Amino acid sequence: MFLRGNTKNPRVLIIGVFHGDEPQGELLINEYLLTKDLTNVLFVPRLNNCNTRVNQNGVDLNRNYPTKNWELGQRNEYFGGEFPASEEETRFIINTVEKYNPQIILSLHAPYKVVNYDGGSKCDLDIIERISQIMDYPIEKSIGYPTPGSFGTWAGIERDILTITLELEEDIDVKELKPKVFKVFELLEGI
Ligand SMILES: [Zn+2]
Repeated sequence: MFLRGNTKNPRVLIIGVFHGDEPQGELLINEYLLTKDLTNVLFVPRLNNCNTRVNQNGVDLNRNYPTKNWELGQRNEYFGGEFPASEEETRFIINTVEKYNPQIILSLHAPYKVVNYDGGSKCDLDIIERISQIMDYPIEKSIGYPTPGSFGTWAGIERDILTITLELEEDIDVKELKPKVFKVFELLEGI
Protein backbone atom coordinates (compact mmCIF):
# COMPACT_ATOMS: atom_id res chain seq x y z
CA MET A 1 0.00 0.00 0.00
CA PHE A 2 2.06 2.89 -1.32
CA LEU A 3 2.07 5.62 -3.94
CA ARG A 4 3.86 5.67 -7.28
CA GLY A 5 3.93 8.08 -10.20
CA ASN A 6 3.30 11.81 -9.85
CA THR A 7 3.40 12.63 -6.14
CA LYS A 8 3.59 16.41 -6.68
CA ASN A 9 0.44 17.66 -8.38
CA PRO A 10 -1.50 14.79 -9.98
CA ARG A 11 -4.96 15.45 -11.38
CA VAL A 12 -5.78 11.77 -11.63
CA LEU A 13 -5.53 8.96 -9.07
CA ILE A 14 -5.59 5.32 -10.22
CA ILE A 15 -6.08 2.56 -7.65
CA GLY A 16 -5.39 -1.15 -8.17
CA VAL A 17 -6.49 -4.20 -6.19
CA PHE A 18 -9.25 -2.87 -3.96
CA HIS A 19 -10.21 -6.53 -3.70
CA GLY A 20 -7.27 -8.90 -3.20
CA ASP A 21 -8.66 -11.54 -5.54
CA GLU A 22 -8.66 -9.05 -8.44
CA PRO A 23 -4.90 -8.77 -9.10
CA GLN A 24 -5.09 -7.33 -12.64
CA GLY A 25 -4.74 -3.70 -11.52
CA GLU A 26 -1.36 -4.11 -9.84
CA LEU A 27 0.14 -6.00 -12.77
CA LEU A 28 -1.12 -3.45 -15.29
CA ILE A 29 -0.05 -0.40 -13.27
CA ASN A 30 3.45 -1.73 -12.58
CA GLU A 31 3.99 -2.69 -16.22
CA TYR A 32 2.65 0.66 -17.38
CA LEU A 33 5.06 2.54 -15.11
CA LEU A 34 7.98 0.56 -16.59
CA THR A 35 7.16 2.15 -19.95
CA LYS A 36 7.20 5.75 -18.64
CA ASP A 37 9.87 8.15 -17.45
CA LEU A 38 7.35 10.68 -16.26
CA THR A 39 3.66 10.43 -15.54
CA ASN A 40 0.97 12.94 -14.65
CA VAL A 41 -0.94 10.35 -12.71
CA LEU A 42 -0.67 9.18 -9.11
CA PHE A 43 -1.02 5.42 -8.64
CA VAL A 44 -1.76 3.07 -5.77
CA PRO A 45 -0.72 -0.20 -7.45
CA ARG A 46 -2.09 -2.49 -4.77
CA LEU A 47 -4.44 -1.42 -2.00
CA ASN A 48 -5.30 -4.84 -0.57
CA ASN A 49 -2.33 -7.04 0.35
CA CYS A 50 -4.38 -10.19 0.84
CA ASN A 51 -5.26 -12.62 -1.90
CA THR A 52 -8.91 -12.63 -0.89
CA ARG A 53 -11.70 -10.17 -1.62
CA VAL A 54 -11.55 -8.92 1.99
CA ASN A 55 -8.46 -7.60 3.81
CA GLN A 56 -6.58 -9.18 6.72
CA ASN A 57 -9.37 -8.18 9.12
CA GLY A 58 -12.08 -9.73 6.96
CA VAL A 59 -13.31 -6.33 5.73
CA ASP A 60 -14.47 -5.52 2.19
CA LEU A 61 -12.47 -2.33 1.55
CA ASN A 62 -15.13 -1.14 -0.88
CA ARG A 63 -17.75 -1.07 1.91
CA ASN A 64 -15.68 0.62 4.64
CA TYR A 65 -15.97 4.31 3.67
CA PRO A 66 -17.60 6.83 6.02
CA THR A 67 -20.64 7.51 3.81
CA LYS A 68 -24.18 8.36 4.82
CA ASN A 69 -25.26 4.86 3.83
CA TRP A 70 -22.50 2.89 5.62
CA GLU A 71 -24.00 0.09 7.67
CA LEU A 72 -22.87 -2.56 10.12
CA GLY A 73 -23.51 -5.76 8.20
CA GLN A 74 -23.02 -9.49 8.49
CA ARG A 75 -19.49 -10.88 8.67
CA ASN A 76 -19.34 -12.16 5.13
CA GLU A 77 -17.22 -11.18 2.11
CA TYR A 78 -19.06 -7.83 1.91
CA PHE A 79 -18.51 -6.96 5.59
CA GLY A 80 -17.99 -3.19 5.82
CA GLY A 81 -16.01 -3.22 9.08
CA GLU A 82 -16.93 -2.64 12.72
CA PHE A 83 -17.18 1.09 12.05
CA PRO A 84 -16.62 3.40 9.03
CA ALA A 85 -12.95 3.84 8.05
CA SER A 86 -11.95 1.17 10.57
CA GLU A 87 -9.27 -0.10 8.15
CA GLU A 88 -5.84 1.44 7.55
CA GLU A 89 -6.27 0.94 3.77
CA THR A 90 -9.40 3.08 3.87
CA ARG A 91 -7.70 5.81 5.88
CA PHE A 92 -4.73 5.70 3.49
CA ILE A 93 -7.02 6.39 0.52
CA ILE A 94 -8.97 9.09 2.37
CA ASN A 95 -5.69 10.83 3.30
CA THR A 96 -4.41 10.49 -0.28
CA VAL A 97 -7.58 11.98 -1.79
CA GLU A 98 -7.64 14.82 0.75
CA LYS A 99 -3.95 15.60 0.26
CA TYR A 100 -3.84 15.50 -3.57
CA ASN A 101 -7.43 16.49 -4.37
CA PRO A 102 -7.61 14.59 -7.71
CA GLN A 103 -10.20 15.59 -10.30
CA ILE A 104 -10.67 12.04 -11.52
CA ILE A 105 -10.21 8.70 -9.80
CA LEU A 106 -10.11 5.35 -11.56
CA SER A 107 -10.29 2.14 -9.56
CA LEU A 108 -9.60 -1.19 -11.22
CA HIS A 109 -11.76 -4.18 -10.40
CA ALA A 110 -12.87 -7.44 -12.03
CA PRO A 111 -14.75 -9.38 -13.47
CA TYR A 112 -17.87 -7.63 -14.77
CA LYS A 113 -16.64 -5.96 -18.00
CA VAL A 114 -18.40 -2.65 -17.39
CA VAL A 115 -17.50 0.99 -16.84
CA ASN A 116 -19.33 2.25 -13.78
CA TYR A 117 -19.04 5.78 -12.43
CA ASP A 118 -20.19 8.11 -9.66
CA GLY A 119 -20.06 11.88 -9.39
CA GLY A 120 -18.61 14.30 -11.90
CA SER A 121 -20.36 16.71 -14.24
CA LYS A 122 -21.95 16.40 -17.69
CA CYS A 123 -18.65 17.21 -19.44
CA ASP A 124 -17.07 14.24 -17.71
CA LEU A 125 -19.39 11.92 -19.64
CA ASP A 126 -17.09 12.29 -22.63
CA ILE A 127 -14.27 10.63 -20.69
CA ILE A 128 -16.58 7.79 -19.63
CA GLU A 129 -17.69 7.31 -23.25
CA ARG A 130 -14.11 7.16 -24.44
CA ILE A 131 -13.10 4.63 -21.80
CA SER A 132 -16.15 2.55 -22.72
CA GLN A 133 -15.11 2.66 -26.39
CA ILE A 134 -11.46 1.80 -25.70
CA MET A 135 -12.40 -1.15 -23.48
CA ASP A 136 -15.43 -2.17 -25.54
CA TYR A 137 -17.39 -2.47 -22.29
CA PRO A 138 -20.81 -0.88 -21.71
CA ILE A 139 -21.35 2.03 -19.32
CA GLU A 140 -23.41 0.98 -16.30
CA LYS A 141 -24.62 3.67 -13.94
CA SER A 142 -25.30 1.08 -11.25
CA ILE A 143 -23.52 -2.20 -10.63
CA GLY A 144 -26.89 -3.81 -9.92
CA TYR A 145 -26.73 -4.38 -6.18
CA PRO A 146 -26.51 -2.09 -3.12
CA THR A 147 -23.00 -0.97 -2.13
CA PRO A 148 -23.25 0.83 1.26
CA GLY A 149 -19.99 2.46 2.33
CA SER A 150 -18.47 2.13 -1.14
CA PHE A 151 -15.57 4.22 -2.36
CA GLY A 152 -17.68 5.43 -5.31
CA THR A 153 -20.29 6.77 -2.89
CA TRP A 154 -17.70 8.46 -0.69
CA ALA A 155 -15.58 10.06 -3.45
CA GLY A 156 -18.07 10.30 -6.31
CA ILE A 157 -21.50 10.93 -4.83
CA GLU A 158 -20.57 12.68 -1.59
CA ARG A 159 -17.47 14.62 -2.80
CA ASP A 160 -18.37 14.99 -6.46
CA ILE A 161 -15.03 13.72 -7.75
CA LEU A 162 -15.54 11.77 -10.96
CA THR A 163 -14.93 8.23 -9.68
CA ILE A 164 -14.75 5.55 -12.34
CA THR A 165 -14.90 1.88 -11.49
CA LEU A 166 -13.46 -0.12 -14.35
CA GLU A 167 -14.50 -3.76 -14.08
CA LEU A 168 -12.01 -5.76 -16.16
CA GLU A 169 -12.50 -9.28 -17.42
CA GLU A 170 -10.73 -12.05 -15.51
CA ASP A 171 -11.09 -14.99 -17.89
CA ILE A 172 -8.24 -13.84 -20.17
CA ASP A 173 -4.52 -13.35 -19.61
CA VAL A 174 -3.75 -9.93 -18.19
CA LYS A 175 -1.34 -9.39 -21.12
CA GLU A 176 -4.34 -9.23 -23.42
CA LEU A 177 -5.79 -6.41 -21.34
CA LYS A 178 -2.62 -4.35 -21.59
CA PRO A 179 -3.16 -2.51 -24.91
CA LYS A 180 -6.63 -1.33 -23.96
CA VAL A 181 -5.93 -0.46 -20.33
CA PHE A 182 -2.71 1.36 -21.27
CA LYS A 183 -4.80 3.45 -23.70
CA VAL A 184 -7.13 4.31 -20.83
CA PHE A 185 -4.15 5.32 -18.69
CA GLU A 186 -2.78 7.42 -21.61
CA LEU A 187 -6.15 9.12 -21.97
CA LEU A 188 -6.11 10.03 -18.28
CA GLU A 189 -2.49 11.22 -18.54
CA GLY A 190 -3.73 13.93 -20.89
CA ILE A 191 -6.57 15.21 -18.72
ZN1 LIG B 1 -13.71 -5.53 -6.87
